[in-house]
Amino acid sequence: MAGYSKEAERQNKALADLMAGREHEKEYVQVGYEGKQENLGGKTRESELSEVMQSVRMPLFCPKCDKAMKKKLDDKFWRTQGHCFDCQVDIENKLRIKGEFDNWAQLKMLNNQKAYLKDLEQSIDEFETTGGKKEWLNNVGVNTPELEAEKWEMGEKEFENQITEARKFIQDAKDKVEQFEKQIQGDK
Ligand SMILES: [Zn+2]
Repeated sequence: MAGYSKEAERQNKALADLMAGREHEKEYVQVGYEGKQENLGGKTRESELSEVMQSVRMPLFCPKCDKAMKKKLDDKFWRTQGHCFDCQVDIENKLRIKGEFDNWAQLKMLNNQKAYLKDLEQSIDEFETTGGKKEWLNNVGVNTPELEAEKWEMGEKEFENQITEARKFIQDAKDKVEQFEKQIQGDK
């Protein structure tokens, strides 16, 4: 049960962020139950590894302007936009001059939100197939990543309630996003 409430908490936070119009940063801290939270060794190791992987994936030069990528700053834009930070500033300035920036930024935010809701929906679909049983993989290794499976189970009624509630939550959020999208597009 603790496993689900942790997951529910993450989803609720995500939706709260979403409603506040902030971009949600996925924090998939895969912790099955409260006790394991104290063990941050695996988590640190994990982010270290993913940082290495990301810098490997980023090309040395921006594919758009051919300037050298400046690791930290460009990395985020490379991963989300496929070009460097400077190119992003250029694009945004051009839109500002044309007076389209606000609409563009809002539509982009809404697209992020839609993508996030889709992810959320998918994770609920996956959760539903577990029938309330779920295996969590906790990264417990300090020096080397090690995975440890944790299992838990919830009652059938509780399970169905959680699913129904989550789906309703997502549907409401989707309706709001769509409504807002229509408003913005109507402004043009
Ligand atoms: Zn560039």
